Amino acid sequence: MDDDLLTRLAAVRDRVTRAALDGGRAPDEVRLLLATKTQPAEAIRAAVLAHRVLAPGAPLLLGENRVGELVAKAPALADLGVPYHLIGPLQSNKLTAALRYADGIDSVESRRLAQRLAARCAEAGRTLDVMVQVNVSGEATKHGVSPEDAAEFAAEVAAMDGLRLVGFQTVGALHPDARVVRAGYATLRAIRDEVVASGGAATAQAVELSMGMSGDLEPAIREGATIVRIGTAVFGPR
Ligand SMILES: *Cc1c(COP(=O)(O)O)cnc(C)c1O
Repeated sequence: MDDDLLTRLAAVRDRVTRAALDGGRAPDEVRLLLATKTQPAEAIRAAVLAHRVLAPGAPLLLGENRVGELVAKAPALADLGVPYHLIGPLQSNKLTAALRYADGIDSVESRRLAQRLAARCAEAGRTLDVMVQVNVSGEATKHGVSPEDAAEFAAEVAAMDGLRLVGFQTVGALHPDARVVRAGYATLRAIRDEVVASGGAATAQAVELSMGMSGDLEPAIREGATIVRIGTAVFGPR
């Protein structure tokens, strides 16, 4: 077992625990998703096994940004039984591959693609867990629907046969002022609360908040993150 990997994983789990306790939350309300972009399957496997040693029974998720990488790695890791999510943008020509290998798509941001995903799932008699991605910072380089459109879009997605809306994902602001970063996460929480409280059966389950990465998991957890997506803090620099 790679000691450095164990050390880095332990440090991440400690940060999660401390941030949760600081915010008056139970640490087990926050799940860890390993963001595996650019990592070879062997490195991902090693991280999953190390996590099992460190935190037996604790939930773990994997997330890939690109469908191509998901296709290349998911089969090699399937025996581990760890759910693999797509956390990056989905292109319309990759729907088949995404549906084949992703256990959830956390980056839904287009009505047309959501409809196509829904139709494919309904046809196949399956239900796909999805999250709506929101661009809380408004930065042009970031994906997601605007905060203003998010609640209405989420309600539409939740109503689609074949999809189950389970929550929301965002990538936080790249900003030196921690208050700005945290305010963005508060925005996502407010959207989630509004959608969950809207009263529909299909929206009541949309409780997940996937937010926080290696550099900013603390403010995300303080604002209610239920999933943090960690790459470099576990795998080292890309
Ligand atoms: C790369 C990536 C992460 C993880 O980022 P780190 O800073 O390496 O922890 C999380 N979410 C998404 C969408 C990513 O692309």
